[in-house]
Amino acid sequence: MNMPRVRFAPSPTGHLHLGNLRTALFNELFARHEKGKLILRIEDTDVERSKPEFANSILRDVDVMGIHFDEGPFYQSKRLHHYEEALHRLEASGRTYFCYCTQEELKARRREALQLKKPPRYDNRCRTLSPAEAERRKSLGMKPTIRFRVDEEQPILVEDLIRGVIHFPPEEIGDFVIMRTHPFKDGEWLPTFHLSVCVDDGLMGITHVIRGEDHLSNSPRHVLLFRALGFSVPKFAHLSLIHSTG
Ligand code: GLU
Repeated sequence: MNMPRVRFAPSPTGHLHLGNLRTALFNELFARHEKGKLILRIEDTDVERSKPEFANSILRDVDVMGIHFDEGPFYQSKRLHHYEEALHRLEASGRTYFCYCTQEELKARRREALQLKKPPRYDNRCRTLSPAEAERRKSLGMKPTIRFRVDEEQPILVEDLIRGVIHFPPEEIGDFVIMRTHPFKDGEWLPTFHLSVCVDDGLMGITHVIRGEDHLSNSPRHVLLFRALGFSVPKFAHLSLIHSTG
């Protein structure tokens, strides 16, 4: 069997949380037990919320807690070319499109869907946006996002080492955003979490994704992206979250 490779991938949008520390510890114990490698990746592509001082404080805290990494830290903000290259591959295989829906429109439709007791997913409407309408919105200065097309008709299976095989109905998963325009730099793009995680897990040869269960609902999307990008799908282990009693 190939040597297991796991990662701890905090977002530097705040100080290290006890739950993240527990995730790091599980990853380290697994890596040491399996004689694998533990990689540290700083997920700092959310430029509005990430701060270098949080990244530094996380690095210091994991070190103080005695967690040792075999590779990294790798900063996603320094790896944007990899996400662009992946985007081009997805574009070339027809899996992407521009979406001009505004945040207000998305929120209103979400509220409506919830009232009708429908899954609050994106309704894929920009799939059929005419080139003329797209051009019109562009000329009004509207900033698009790039969405990934979810064409699946069969349930998407996530194999979780803790929870077993979980079936996600494809109709509950709308086309999701993988790239957005940079909020501060005109003409530049940033990957969303979904794209950067899958590209890096794929390129870094991650075999086991051990993370908090708050990410469980993201995993069917990630399975689709891994496949579309030609990466093998890692094994998942979603850990229960720590809840305060007070
Ligand atoms: N950066 C994510 C977080 O801090 C973790 C992503 C992952 O483990 O896949 O919640």
